[in-house]
Amino acid sequence: MSGRLIVISNRIPMGDAVSGGLMVALHDALAASGGIWIGAHPEAGQADDGLEEVSTAPYQRLAFRLSEIEMHDYYLGYANSVLWPLFHRRGDLVELRPEYEAAYRRVNARLARIIRQIAGPDDLIWVHDYHFLSLAAELRAAGVQNRIGFFLHVPFPALGDLSVLTHPERFADELAQFNLVGLQTRSDVARCLEMFRADPRAEFMPDGSVKFGHRITSVRSFPIGIDTAGFAAEAEKAGPNPFGAEEPGRFILGVDRLDYSKGLPNRFKGFARYLETRTDNARACLLQIAPPSREQVPAYQEITRELEEIAGHVNGRFAELDWTPLRYIHRPIARAKLARLYRRAKACLVTSLADGMNLVAKEFVAAQNPDDPGILILSRFAGAAEDMTEALLVNPYDIEDIAKAISCALGMSHDERRRRHAACLEVVQRTDVAQWSATFLGTLTTCPYPREFSD
Ligand code: UDP
Repeated sequence: MSGRLIVISNRIPMGDAVSGGLMVALHDALAASGGIWIGAHPEAGQADDGLEEVSTAPYQRLAFRLSEIEMHDYYLGYANSVLWPLFHRRGDLVELRPEYEAAYRRVNARLARIIRQIAGPDDLIWVHDYHFLSLAAELRAAGVQNRIGFFLHVPFPALGDLSVLTHPERFADELAQFNLVGLQTRSDVARCLEMFRADPRAEFMPDGSVKFGHRITSVRSFPIGIDTAGFAAEAEKAGPNPFGAEEPGRFILGVDRLDYSKGLPNRFKGFARYLETRTDNARACLLQIAPPSREQVPAYQEITRELEEIAGHVNGRFAELDWTPLRYIHRPIARAKLARLYRRAKACLVTSLADGMNLVAKEFVAAQNPDDPGILILSRFAGAAEDMTEALLVNPYDIEDIAKAISCALGMSHDERRRRHAACLEVVQRTDVAQWSATFLGTLTTCPYPREFSD
C-alpha cells in the first residue's frame, strides 16, 4: 500500500489504552501502515468542520464533535432507532422521523468535507458500520476518487425489510459508491446481492462484482474475529477468584450488552424451563452479565424492565435459601475478569435473535481449557454460527430447544466436549482479527477499480 490508511468509525479509543478486539485490530493496521483514525468525540460540542487531535503516535487519532441535537437525532435517532432495529429484523421498533434522517445526512456530509481536506490521492479509506452508510456517496459528490471500503458489523437486512426506510431506493445507490462492501457472513453477501439483483440500475460483471451506473463494487464476506492468542493468554492467567466468597458452583454464562437483539427474555425463560424439566437434582446457575446500552432509547428501557421482571419470576419460583439460580448483573465487567469467568463456566449461552457475528461466542471458545472445555450454546441467527457448526446450535425463538441444549451441555461427555471445542477453536484461530483486517485491506487494494468507471 503506497498511501496511508484512513479509518472512520463512530467510536475511537480516546486514551492511551486501546482495548477490545476490533479497536486493537484497527490500531495495529494503522500502526503498520501509518495513518489516521477519525471518529466521533464521546462528548457533544460545536458541530463544525474541525477535528481535535486525540493522539499522535504511532498514527493520528482525530475526533469530530457532534452537537447535542446530532447526538440525539443522528446517533440515538437514525443510527440506533431506525437502522439498528431495521438491520436486526425489528421493523416494529423503527421510529421514522424526518429530522433523524436529515441529521444523519448532515453528519455524513460534514465528515466527507473533513476527509476531503486531509486525504491524499493514494490513501485508502476504510469506513465502518451503519453510522456511515452514505459517506462514500458524499465523498464522491465532493470529488474524492480514492478507493473506499466499507465494513458492516451488523447483519445485512432482507430486501423486503428495506422498504421500511423512507427512501429505500437510496440504499443500494449509496452502497454502490464504495469500491468494496465487506459483510460478516456468506448469508449477508447473498442478501446484499439479492438487493442489487432486484435493482434495474445494477448489472453484474463476469467476476461477480456489481456495476451500478458508472461505479463498480465488490461484495465479499470477511467474518470478524478476536485476538485469539491474546484472549487465551488472558484467560489462563492466574488471577483472584472473580467471585470471592460468592462462588456459584456449576454455572452457565451469558455476556451481552442489554439489547433486544440478544434474545435475553427467551434465554431466561429457556433456563427456567430447564430447571422445571431437569431430571437430576444437581444445581446450576445462570450468570447473566448485561451492561446497560443506549438507555435513552425507549425500546431499551422496555427490554430492561421486561428482563428484571422475568429474572424476579425465575428466582421467586426456583430459589432456595442457599441457591440463587439466576444471577443477573446489570453492569459492565472488565475484559480481564470476563476472560477468567469464561474459563470457569460449564457453558456459554448465546441466544441472539439477529447478530452480525457475536464476539462473545469466539471469546468463550478461546478462553477454554482444551483438556476440560465448557460448551458453547449458540443461536443459529448469530453470524458466528455460519462457521462454528460444532457449537450446540439452537433456535432462540424456541424456549424448549434452549432448555434441551442447556441440559445436553451440562450432561455432555468429556470426549464430546473436547471434540466440539477443538472444532470451534480451529474456526476461532483461523478467522482471527489480524487476519480479518489484513484480508479486507488486501482485497480493497486489489479489487477492480477500472478508470473508465471513475468519475
Ligand atoms: N464486553 C465487555 N464487558 C461486558 C460485556 C461485554 O467487555 O460487561 C465485551 C465482550 O467481551 C465483547 C463485546 O463486549 O468483546 C461484545 O461484542 P459482541 O460482538 O458479542 O456484541 P455487540 O455488543 O458488539 O453487539
